[in-house]
Amino acid sequence: MSDKTIFKRIIDREIPADIVYEDDLCLAFRDVAPQAPTHVLVIPKQEIPALADAQDGDAPLLGHLLDTVRRLAVQLGLDGGYRVVINSGPDAGQSVDHLHLHLLAGRPLRWPPG
Ligand code: AMP
Repeated sequence: MSDKTIFKRIIDREIPADIVYEDDLCLAFRDVAPQAPTHVLVIPKQEIPALADAQDGDAPLLGHLLDTVRRLAVQLGLDGGYRVVINSGPDAGQSVDHLHLHLLAGRPLRWPPG
């Protein structure tokens, strides 16, 4: 049994995903259990388990992930707005230990979140 996370296995093309964007630093693919009409995950290729594990030197990569979300929102035509979510750690409900940004759009999103 591999000790890779499911997202590392997607990066390595060991399991399929509906990939919408890729570059040297990151990968974006549709969430398998979408919580909104558009639900895309943006992940770094570097294995950072959670935002809380990122280091000061990772700031350019973190900026790139957010900028990728911004460009994807344009590409996907999310003119009505969108939400970006990062769950970091158990209290936030993080279920995959590979940093990921959720891009959610296509329906009104309530606030505060659950
Ligand atoms: P989180 O709860 O913030 O850790 O989010 C993990 C997300 O990964 C959830 O929204 C899952 O639906 C999603 N997910 C888990 N496995 C896969 C997969 N194989 N392909 C796409 N999304 C996945």
